[in-house]
Amino acid sequence: MQKKNIFILGSTGSIGLNTLDVIRKFPDHFCVEALTAKSNIELLEEQILEFSPRIVVVKDEKAAKEIQKRIPGKFDLFIGDDGLIEATRVGDYDILLSALVGFAGLKPTIEGIKRGKRIALANKETLVVAGEIITELCNKNNAEILPVDSEHSAIFQCIVGEESKEINKLILTASGGPFFGKSKKELSDVTVEEALKHPNWNMGSKITIDSATMMNKGLEIIEAHWLFNLRKEKIDVLIHPQSIIHSMVEFIDGSIKAQLSLPDMRLPIQYALTYPERFESSFTNTNLAALKELTFFNPDFDKFTCLKLAFDVMEQGGTAPCILNAANEVAVEKFLHGEIKFTDIPELIEKALNNIENHSEPDLETIVECDRLTRDFILE
Ligand code: NAD
Ligand code: MG
Repeated sequence: MQKKNIFILGSTGSIGLNTLDVIRKFPDHFCVEALTAKSNIELLEEQILEFSPRIVVVKDEKAAKEIQKRIPGKFDLFIGDDGLIEATRVGDYDILLSALVGFAGLKPTIEGIKRGKRIALANKETLVVAGEIITELCNKNNAEILPVDSEHSAIFQCIVGEESKEINKLILTASGGPFFGKSKKELSDVTVEEALKHPNWNMGSKITIDSATMMNKGLEIIEAHWLFNLRKEKIDVLIHPQSIIHSMVEFIDGSIKAQLSLPDMRLPIQYALTYPERFESSFTNTNLAALKELTFFNPDFDKFTCLKLAFDVMEQGGTAPCILNAANEVAVEKFLHGEIKFTDIPELIEKALNNIENHSEPDLETIVECDRLTRDFILE
């Protein structure tokens, strides 16, 4: 059997680690073409020794030199943002697992699409900021995007074998995050530590804060809009605190399909790697009788303004989603560093949206420029 070669963008992150765990379980099916990291070379060194990749990319130059010193001559080393793009251009891989965090994931993901590869997409920001460009490039180059995000994987699994025109709506579930039960007033005093305590998932810090503000669900409705080619009116959000139902699809005859399992990212990652097959695995063992109850609530758009802003920018289109995303990335970083309050995050994003011009049908250059402009605006 021919092994599938995997290029992992962001191997030292939460999705990267879960991906390597899936690969570790199926050594006859998968091998690692490339590992990439920003600066965590202790972990990267362990990963190189275990998986022997042909390519290694390190964003930080000093860290790159250090890894070369520690493990000389074993792999081709690429450095920095340009190195990352070059490596995705020349690597010999079947699947690009796109799991950098934020806007940084866009350009290397595009390189994989241009080469007609399968993209296992965790980096939702790519579709949020450049959904139209990505969709066109995928069609032109015959590249397929397999969602890794658990909600989109759930929807994808529900619509296999179904007709798109028979979908009435997508119902994206959301845990509600750590502040689901808090009042709007209480939100202004929450600490970074509290915001980083997600009730059901263990993830990188940026997406964990996004889950607390519900911007994560906001980014996900835009991601779903592009992935499944559906209008805004056909996308709903439902709070489901247990995170057992990962999302649902309602069809025109009133039937609803759902995908369920205990929360474990290795399941959607594995499906994106093995589709259209399913491999046997023991990651999750869902005992519904033990869970006893699944509950549902409508989202509170007044309390979680970020979710409302995301629905608005999806409607506006153009560079509005890019402005929302860039403002959010900088605001979250500021919150994590203790520079602003939790409730300042949506306020800063709204300011950026009100002050920065929206360009319709942007090309990639316009999107990159818009991202830069928005970051400068928030930093000011
Ligand atoms: P993370 O912060 O844990 O990992 C990010 C990875 O990208 C690390 O390997 C880091 O070294 C690398 N990286 C970060 N910035 C970089 C840069 N500028 N240049 C090069 N490398 C860089 O993040 P994560 O939680 O694994 O999330 C990754 C992506 O997957 C995000 O887009 C997130 O929204 C999405 N996602 C994550 C989860 C999850 O369970 N963690 C679930 C669904 C979707
Ligand atoms: Mg998700």
